Amino acid sequence: MPSDQSHPVLAISGLEHRYAHEPIPAIKVPELTLQPAQQLVLTGSSGSGKSTLLHLIAGLMDPTAGTILVSGTNPHQLRGHTRDRFRGRTLGMVFQTHHLLMGFSAEENVMAALMFSDIPRGAHGARSRALLDSLGITTPTRRVEQLSIGQQQRVAIARALACDPALVLADEPTASLDPDNAEVALDLLQQACRSSGAALLCVTHDRRFLDRFDRAEHLLAPHEQLQKAGGA
Ligand code: ADP
Ligand code: MG
Repeated sequence: MPSDQSHPVLAISGLEHRYAHEPIPAIKVPELTLQPAQQLVLTGSSGSGKSTLLHLIAGLMDPTAGTILVSGTNPHQLRGHTRDRFRGRTLGMVFQTHHLLMGFSAEENVMAALMFSDIPRGAHGARSRALLDSLGITTPTRRVEQLSIGQQQRVAIARALACDPALVLADEPTASLDPDNAEVALDLLQQACRSSGAALLCVTHDRRFLDRFDRAEHLLAPHEQLQKAGGA
């Protein structure tokens, strides 16, 4: 397991990101720390920078200022394949629309994530089926487009947990689900993180589920931070 208990799983300081050709930053996060196995929900209105933050943490883009350490490593100092490998082994990601590989089975979708793990290739199938089974998917060979949206989200959760990540990033994981399925999916995600020891950072504009998390924080867009500082 990549999680190093001597480091916070996430340590952000002085983070700022401005997209190219934009006059003002899309996000400013002076400080944010997450301890191993902790579950934090970060709320924020649409456009406050939640997805941008997760992309920065995942090392999918580099911040214009500040540092992000994931289990003590700065992904932005890693290059190319090394960064991809670090992301694959250390982070799990769950999105609103799950980015599953259509045309492939549930099992193959989870196995694709296991390419980054130390687990021998011969054991990938069994691990994938066991994970899917623990999330209530008992038809692992069915193609994902033949599954319901709720079942697809379970496959996405299994895929996120496949490599035993230190941190799971969830971007509006319940937004495309009806209220009942949203609750079940969130339960499954939180339970899966607990049983694997992964920390969870869930960003959402949905304030219904705040009391299910260890911690809740609110993200303000840079212009909202300015208004607040100005006493508006
Ligand atoms: P959220 O996920 O909270 O809705 P985003 O992180 O998607 O917010 O967006 C934050 C801000 O950054 C918004 O003002 C959005 O318009 C802007 N933004 C997002 N992606 C890009 C991009 N690729 N180029 C320029 N601006 C962007
Ligand atoms: Mg978003």
